[in-house]
Amino acid sequence: GLQVSSQRMRNRRKEIACRGDIERLTHCFLSIYESLIPPDEEKEKQKQLLASLEKLVNKEWPRAQLFLYGSCANTFGVSNSDIDVCMTLDDDGTSKSDILLKLAEILESDNLQNVQALTRARVPIVKLMDPVTKISCDICINNVLALVNTKLLRDYAQIDVRLRQLAFIVKYWAKSRGVNETYHGTLSSYAYVLMCIHFLQSRRPAILPCLQGMKATYVVKIDNVDYGYFDKVEELRDFGAVNNESIGFLLWAFFDYWAYCHDYANDVISVRTAGIISKREKDWTRRIGNDRHLICIEDPFEVNHDLGRVVDKYSIKILREEFERAADVLQYDPNPSVKLFEPY
Ligand code: ATP
Ligand code: MG
Repeated sequence: GLQVSSQRMRNRRKEIACRGDIERLTHCFLSIYESLIPPDEEKEKQKQLLASLEKLVNKEWPRAQLFLYGSCANTFGVSNSDIDVCMTLDDDGTSKSDILLKLAEILESDNLQNVQALTRARVPIVKLMDPVTKISCDICINNVLALVNTKLLRDYAQIDVRLRQLAFIVKYWAKSRGVNETYHGTLSSYAYVLMCIHFLQSRRPAILPCLQGMKATYVVKIDNVDYGYFDKVEELRDFGAVNNESIGFLLWAFFDYWAYCHDYANDVISVRTAGIISKREKDWTRRIGNDRHLICIEDPFEVNHDLGRVVDKYSIKILREEFERAADVLQYDPNPSVKLFEPY
C-alpha cells in the first residue's frame, strides 16, 4: 500500500512539475492538428466515388448498399488517406469469396485500376484505385460491426474536441515512428483511438463519458445479439468542460501513462466500461495460439477480441520504448514538437 501511494505521489509531482513547460506546447500541437485535417473537397470526392461505385454494384446486386467506415467516416482520418467501404447485401448463401471475385470482375471491367481480391485475409476485401480521383479503396462485405464501431468513435469525437486533437497527434506520432503497422506487430489506428478514448474517460474530472454504460438510444441487432449505446451526444457537449487540461499536457500524460503507469502484467483497458478490467477475469493471462496479450485493449463490442493481440515479445519492447521516448521528449527535450515526430 505504502509503495503504491508513494509511487502515486511521485507521479503526481511529476505531473505538476511538467505542467508549466508543456502548456507552451499546446499552441504548437494545435497547429499540427489543424494541418492534418482533410479539406472539404477531399470529403466531397470520397462521397462521389462512393456514389458511383454504388451505382455500379447495383447493376449486379440491386439491393446492395455501400457505406464508408474506418478513418474516412469516424472523423479520425488525416488528409489523403485510403477509404474503407463496406458493401451490405442480403445473404443468399453465396460465399464471401465468390461475391468478392464477382465484385472484382465488375470493377475491373469498369476501368478501375489495381483491382485485387484478397479473399483469404482476416477481413476479406477487394482493393482498387480510382484513376479519376486517385483515391485507393478497400471494399469488404457485410462487416456490420465495423460500421457500428465507426459510429461509436465518431460519436465520442463529437463530445470533446480534445479527443480528435489527441488522436490525430498520436496517430501522426505512431506513423512517423513506425509503430502503426499491425503486420510488424505494432498497433492499428483503431487501437490507438481506443487508447485515447480510454485515457480521456480516466481523467479526473473525466473528459469523456462511458456511452455504453448509459441508456441505449441506438441499438443494432447482429446475429441475434444487441449492440447498443447512448448516441444523443449533442446532449453531452459540455461533459468535459469542468476539466480544463490542455492538449499539450494531455499528450504528455497519455505517453507517461503508457510508459510508466500502465500495469502491463495485469490490466486490460476497456472503453466499454470506462475502466480497467483484470486479465485474469478475461482469461487473458496466457498465450493461446497467437494471442499473447502483452498489451490488452478490449474491443468495445467484440469483448473477446484483444486489439493488442498482434503484439509479440519483440514488438512490445519497441512499443514501450517508444512510449518512454515520447514521454521523455515531451518532458525534457528543448524542441519536442519536432523531435517527437522524427523519423525512426
Ligand atoms: P487509418 O487508415 O487512418 O490509419 P483507420 O481508422 O481507417 O485509420 P484501421 O485501423 O485500418 O484504420 O481500421 C479501419 C476500421 O476497421 C476501424 O475503424 C474499425 O471499424 C475496423 N477495425 C480495424 N481493426 C479492427 C479490429 N481489430 N477489430 C474490429 N474492427 C476493426
Ligand atoms: Mg483506413
